[in-house]
Amino acid sequence: MNKLKNKVTVITGGNSGIGFGIAEAFKNEGAKGAIIGRNQETLASSVAQLGDNFIGLNADVTNLSELESVFKDTAEKLGKIDVIVANAGAGTTGTVADTSEADYDKLLDLNLKSVFFTVNKALPYMNDGGSIILIGSNAAHRAYPSFGLYGAAKAAVIFFAKSFSNDLLDRKIRANVITPGTTDTPAFDKFVPAEQVEAVKKHFAGVMPIGRIGQPADIGKTAVFLASDDSSFLLGAELLVDGGMTYLA
Ligand code: NDP
Repeated sequence: MNKLKNKVTVITGGNSGIGFGIAEAFKNEGAKGAIIGRNQETLASSVAQLGDNFIGLNADVTNLSELESVFKDTAEKLGKIDVIVANAGAGTTGTVADTSEADYDKLLDLNLKSVFFTVNKALPYMNDGGSIILIGSNAAHRAYPSFGLYGAAKAAVIFFAKSFSNDLLDRKIRANVITPGTTDTPAFDKFVPAEQVEAVKKHFAGVMPIGRIGQPADIGKTAVFLASDDSSFLLGAELLVDGGMTYLA
């Protein structure tokens, strides 16, 4: 119940889906913290559900000065930061044939550049001995149609966990990455017409070796492990949380 008691945590994209699942799991283990997002409405409703120990901060993670401000504000309001989760991310550009330069830049700004700079901007406000958790995707391991650029960005994020750990040995800050498979979030719903969402989820559950698609709470439990001392021997590790879909389906 208290694996993260009084730890200060920051979760980008903590106002939806996997990020919110992580914030809830952290709260249940006694953490406090900040969730970061752009949508004021979901930020407010998520903070209301998380309770008094969490604040919501509005920022676009692709804007580096806004990014820096959220870590500064969190440290000023809640104390130096122990755990950051670089979770905000999304999407596909389409196939190699129909991806424009603008699509390319937008996807990499969100899924790659923002992850690097989330860590870069957070570090001055973090306690030594802290934990960095990155969110990858199983699209880094398996080629899905139209997910090439996204998968490549996520493969780089998986490598970041190793290189960041190496860079931060002197501060004993560990970086690890969680690689989700298909997870039941608003992002998943956006990929299919509303009337087909339930049927598509059922189809996915049928092909998943474990018999269901992932839930944000599955990722939340894994994030608690990586944030806590239980994972003190893990540096640069990748935890594939996918119900077996990447290599067994
Ligand atoms: P959601 O769409 O539910 O949540 C995405 C979150 O990211 C939202 O809170 C959103 O906040 C935030 N976000 C997006 N862009 C920005 C931005 N520019 N600045 C600030 N916040 C931003 O998606 P998921 O929960 O599904 O995805 C979370 C992570 O998990 C992503 O990195 C995704 O790639 C990864 N993932 C998801 C899988 C799935 O099946 N769902 C599978 C594998 C990986 P706001 O709306 O306020 O902008």
